[in-house]
Amino acid sequence: MTIAEPAPTTTETNTAATRTAYRTCPLCEASCGLEITLRPTPSGEEVVRIRGDRDDVFSKGYICPKGSTLKQLHEDPDRLRRPVVKRDGAFVEVSWDEAFAEIEQRLLPLLDEHGRDACAIYVGNPNAHNLAGLLYNRALLRALGSTNVFSASTVDQRPKEISSALMFGGGLNVPVPDVDRTDHLLMLGANPFASNGSLATAPDWPGRIERVVERGGAVVVVDPRRSRTAEAATEWVPIRPGADAYLLMAMVQVITSEGLVDLGRCGDLVTGLDEVVAAAAPFTPELVAHATGLAADDIRRMARELAAAPSACVYGRIGTTTAEFGTLTSWLVDVLNVLTGNLDRPGGAMFTTAAAGASNTRGKPRYGRAVKLHRRTSRVRELPETFGELPAVAMAEEMDTPGEGRIRALVTVAGNPVLSTPNSARLDAAIAGLDFRVAIDIYVNETTRHADVILPAPSPLQKGHYDLALLQLALHDTSNYSEPVLPLDADQPTEWEVLARLALVLQGGGATADPALVDDLMITSMVQGSVADETSPIHGRDVDEILEELSPRRGPERILDFLLRTGPYGEGFGGDPDGSSMDKLLANPHGLDHGPLKTRLPDVLRTPDGMIALAPEILLADVARLHEGLDGRRDHPFVLIGRRDLRSNNSWMHNLSVLVKGKPRCTAHLHPDDAASLGLDDGDDAIVRSRVGEVRVPVEVTDAIRRGVVSIPHGWGHDLDGVQLEVAAAHAGVNSNLLADETFFEPISGNAVLNGIPVDVQRA
Ligand code: SF4
Repeated sequence: MTIAEPAPTTTETNTAATRTAYRTCPLCEASCGLEITLRPTPSGEEVVRIRGDRDDVFSKGYICPKGSTLKQLHEDPDRLRRPVVKRDGAFVEVSWDEAFAEIEQRLLPLLDEHGRDACAIYVGNPNAHNLAGLLYNRALLRALGSTNVFSASTVDQRPKEISSALMFGGGLNVPVPDVDRTDHLLMLGANPFASNGSLATAPDWPGRIERVVERGGAVVVVDPRRSRTAEAATEWVPIRPGADAYLLMAMVQVITSEGLVDLGRCGDLVTGLDEVVAAAAPFTPELVAHATGLAADDIRRMARELAAAPSACVYGRIGTTTAEFGTLTSWLVDVLNVLTGNLDRPGGAMFTTAAAGASNTRGKPRYGRAVKLHRRTSRVRELPETFGELPAVAMAEEMDTPGEGRIRALVTVAGNPVLSTPNSARLDAAIAGLDFRVAIDIYVNETTRHADVILPAPSPLQKGHYDLALLQLALHDTSNYSEPVLPLDADQPTEWEVLARLALVLQGGGATADPALVDDLMITSMVQGSVADETSPIHGRDVDEILEELSPRRGPERILDFLLRTGPYGEGFGGDPDGSSMDKLLANPHGLDHGPLKTRLPDVLRTPDGMIALAPEILLADVARLHEGLDGRRDHPFVLIGRRDLRSNNSWMHNLSVLVKGKPRCTAHLHPDDAASLGLDDGDDAIVRSRVGEVRVPVEVTDAIRRGVVSIPHGWGHDLDGVQLEVAAAHAGVNSNLLADETFFEPISGNAVLNGIPVDVQRA
């Protein structure tokens, strides 16, 4: 472990009055270090500059255009600072006590009358970047006690969590591509030049990819669009949308039939190899050529090159998970990593050793419980539960279909499902028809405009930060805690206090109950669990003594300190004086470098038999559907796919003028031949229509897209009545989820299919 020299958090470098703070950017999964300069004002301090922290152990100065907007976000006049309650159709500011009292008075009777399932909860994507959210949402969910739990996971990465849980024994036990050391990177449905990477945390993906090419390696990008990432690659493979599973299955067929299997470090750790060989046997490159739109010889060559590379990794992202065969595709990505000997090899696909919170560093190695999927179903369409949640595609019907068990109230936590989930128009109307809605959010957006009470969290600059989830998926082992840069406003609670207090209200603890009750309960139960665990560094220690050592910290920082100290680099409450802790992270504001990814097999496995399950039954059973899908369903004249932009981040950063200025980004990309056949020129408006809706959208004609594919980014459509986002409304764009069909989902994960939606396109 390398520990950076302690650096001061305050400096006099600019003028005697300025101060410099360091903070990890919370806006996307890249986790860049920021250097923030502040100066005093009559009322406190203001940010005068944000740039990349050149001393950050992970990002080394890299920053994207979004990172410097934390100041604008903090100062955004539309950002809510105080709770609001709807009175006679308009939001009015109220005190925190009044807001919680309103929730108590209106929501609890509804739960008493109709049961806990009458209130649903939707947890949005920003929670994955949020320490308080990751820790205290659990308390909120428990307090609500509803089975109607939804999140952004089922419009995003749920298939990968499922395949990883089945193969390796944990939804976050996800092998990540060791990009910094690989000779061959095969990427599907990923555009890290725009997204900055996902399920593979690393700042400066563009630089990392460019360095693969510079050292003579191969970067192969499989995508219906020639994205910025594809432009920088050594090869672009323009596959038909939604066909990645066919390509990967055919590559497995080539590798297994040509004797190219080399299990490497997985040699005696794999079950199910014969079943995989048998499942892949029919999927020859010739069989899948039409479905993929690729030549059989190219598929064969890709497989051989992958197998022959000294090191290689296969990596799939959102284009592969929000697709018709998302879980199969996610599985096949790692089947290929295993079959080519690249799992757990430097330069291959490896497991991160996170400093805190990872289930694959806790408990007994090679021991875990069987994954239980589909333990219950939704009420109306009987869609499957996964990991305690129902699919987001079921939300609207659970609200607007009459009958016993109908959802009558909704809590959203940093989520905007009206823009983020399929058939937005139906969901929008369904939420409007509910009896009561609570939102924890900083904006009155397309979803929260329906709320009866909105509880605003502090701005990112007012919160401490540690990437508890994302650092479990990092391409290099690091840890980094950021203190709040700016103080809370007068009377403003911290985010964990808001979440804990709402939990107490839902439990019937009263609107004025002390959130410390929840906090104390949580840390006590964690410490009790750890001292009882014979693999823990504090096994057998006294609970009160450990709690005493953690005091006087409280909230997320106390829990993080506990996780760090009992983690793989931790000081173990006295076991290793050089080990990690909150104090150590505070003394190292540029982060701690724990080194490159390490080999971790077999101990990283948490499957019931301690083996890699190469052929989980539920996935093998789905191969028949893949085979059936080879018919002509992919021959619809147009299919819709999404698109990322470096200056955008789902639905919630369009109110910052610096990010939306310039030419409109919410456009439909069309191939020149398609545009010509439809009589469309660059800048013309097109009508794009699906089974569930239509949008009118300006066209951008580009040869960087396959024929028959239309690409519209999601997260736009800010022109709805009642939205209080002045800048975003002036750059409204259209909501692509008006086209996404809630009946089009992947059956194992329940994940929405957002790539490959059949649409018709015509001139407006
Ligand atoms: S790449 Fe992501 S983490 Fe880095 S500055 Fe941009 S938004 Fe922030």
